[in-house]
Amino acid sequence: MSFQSALDVAVPALAAMKSRRKKPSASARSLERLAAARPPAARPSAAAAPSVVAEDPLPPAVDPSSIASLYDLRTAALACRRCPRLACSRTNVVFGVGNPRAELMFVGEAPGADEDEQGEPFVGRAGQLLTKIIAAMGLSRDDVYIGNVLKCRPDMPEGSTGNRKPRAEEMATCLPWLVRQIELIGPKCLVALGATALEGLTGSVEPMGKVRGRWLDFRGTPLMVTYHPAYLLRNQSISEKRKVWEDMLLVMEKLAMPVTERQRQFFTSASQQ
Ligand code: SF4
Repeated sequence: MSFQSALDVAVPALAAMKSRRKKPSASARSLERLAAARPPAARPSAAAAPSVVAEDPLPPAVDPSSIASLYDLRTAALACRRCPRLACSRTNVVFGVGNPRAELMFVGEAPGADEDEQGEPFVGRAGQLLTKIIAAMGLSRDDVYIGNVLKCRPDMPEGSTGNRKPRAEEMATCLPWLVRQIELIGPKCLVALGATALEGLTGSVEPMGKVRGRWLDFRGTPLMVTYHPAYLLRNQSISEKRKVWEDMLLVMEKLAMPVTERQRQFFTSASQQ
């Protein structure tokens, strides 16, 4: 056989063998292993999201100032994502509770873990103390309105417990919701609970000792500042309780509520006898 004849036989035979060779295929098991080894798909995380979108104005449809009813305002606030990080980490937007025609409105700083879980402000230990203060005034939680400057719980590092103070820019971003809430409820007076609530409402960073016990103004509504109930849980002295109570007596007088002699004496030496 000549060399050319040998090539004529060998080349087609080799081509046929090559085409019959089995193509590599991945078994189901090997695909599972591959998928397990692959890093998880990126998902939005609270830590990666920016804190607030200060430059991003609210779309007109959810501009709080344009909303005419408390119900619609609440519906819009529940969908708010102006603070992407808080919107990722929150369980609930804590809008506020109480009488939509309340004459007295309490404003705290932000929801804590219990409030985030239940979607209602002041439901933890500090909230229970606030409920007692309201009862001592002769009112119930249903008579007043209770809200916060910040409506979503400030996010915490993964695995950590407790609450953190809201940042000034977070409170400023959320404030339009509260401003409209106050306009729609129309309380005769406001009580800011703690220095952070005062800062969120007015920008003032004056110490509590200087600002409590006298009337301030929030956009035309009289504003009293007093200690946050959580402060009273940490400091159980009669003198500190009396300071808060004196602030509440001023509020009762402002609202022309009847004040009994017994109420006037709460947390004084006379009441301890
Ligand atoms: S904190 Fe206020 S402004 Fe920020 S996402 Fe929550 S509701 Fe919206």
